[in-house]
Amino acid sequence: MRATLRLGTVAGVAIGAHWSALGTLALLFAVVTSGFAHTFPEQPTGARVAAGLLAALLFLASLFAHEIAHSVVAKRQGLEVEGITLWLLGGVSTIRGEAARPRAEFAIAIVGPAASLASAVVFALVAWALAAVGVGQLWVAVATYLAVINVLLAAFNLVPAAPLDGGRVLRAVLWAIRGDRASAAVWAARMGRGFGMALILLGGLEFLFGFGFGLWWLLLGLFILVMAGAEERQAQTGAALAGVRVRQVMTPDPDTASGGLSVEGFLGEYAVSRRHSAFPLVDAQGRVEGLITFNRLIAVPHARRATTTLREAAASLADIPVADPEDPVADLVPRLAASADRRALVFSTGRLVGIVTSSDISRAVALHLPRG
Ligand SMILES: [Zn+2]
Repeated sequence: MRATLRLGTVAGVAIGAHWSALGTLALLFAVVTSGFAHTFPEQPTGARVAAGLLAALLFLASLFAHEIAHSVVAKRQGLEVEGITLWLLGGVSTIRGEAARPRAEFAIAIVGPAASLASAVVFALVAWALAAVGVGQLWVAVATYLAVINVLLAAFNLVPAAPLDGGRVLRAVLWAIRGDRASAAVWAARMGRGFGMALILLGGLEFLFGFGFGLWWLLLGLFILVMAGAEERQAQTGAALAGVRVRQVMTPDPDTASGGLSVEGFLGEYAVSRRHSAFPLVDAQGRVEGLITFNRLIAVPHARRATTTLREAAASLADIPVADPEDPVADLVPRLAASADRRALVFSTGRLVGIVTSSDISRAVALHLPRG
């Protein structure tokens, strides 16, 4: 989810909104103002609209507070946080990598609902204070509404089903008890699929009977179902790769190319004798300086191929994931997926010994995945 609108940085975390968050805002606004029209028919329309808008905006702010809590704790646990984006179905924190221990995973997950409960307490106190100083009932109702909806948000997020916070909590607890992260993740994801299907069913029924929220629940259920399915596959990949070492999947002694060669010269040679689609580049001393891929070669315009060297067209060593032959493959997977060229170089005591591609990993997963 890419933010359409960047809103700034809070506690060192970039926050933004996707255009679809306008849908959430409109829906909340509509629900709140129609509720107010029913409860406060004597109030002028302008006041009700202002109160509805304030309630909707403050609710989005409390969604941000929930996500910022996740991000801040994730950062404290040493994970990299890319940012927070608000969209149609709520807030999303984009966190790179995964918690190293169940305790860290638990802390990152539980702090979101805790922040929502804290927001609820704050809004309840505000409602109480507003009532005490005798401000109009409409404004007390706004604060009360925000307190209640934050309690509901915390409760919903605590349902033990991935990708909800409760699913992460369940995963951390199962992981701590049974010591197996992958199987814990599979169970949390299965709960997520079950919960997603239940929401789709209930949302569908609600929609059929003409209640406006049905469609929103249906979409949320679909989102949870899809996310949980992806998490289950990812967890199974992790389980399949448990104990597999980089040396078992790499292509040993890869074909190298000299960095000083021109793209045109190399392509000519490539057409007749080379079979691979990526080549580590070596300098005159035989040191590895980068990686050239077939895609990078053909991306060089025809007119410039004679004057461009492989070194100029290549990915530099700093941009390529590097591994040791004895590293677990599971650790390499996320780095490989995040890299532009989807290839990793394998070094043993400073010497290039192999190359790993995404298809090497897929093959390893297919070989080790349990049948059925
Ligand atoms: Zn959360």
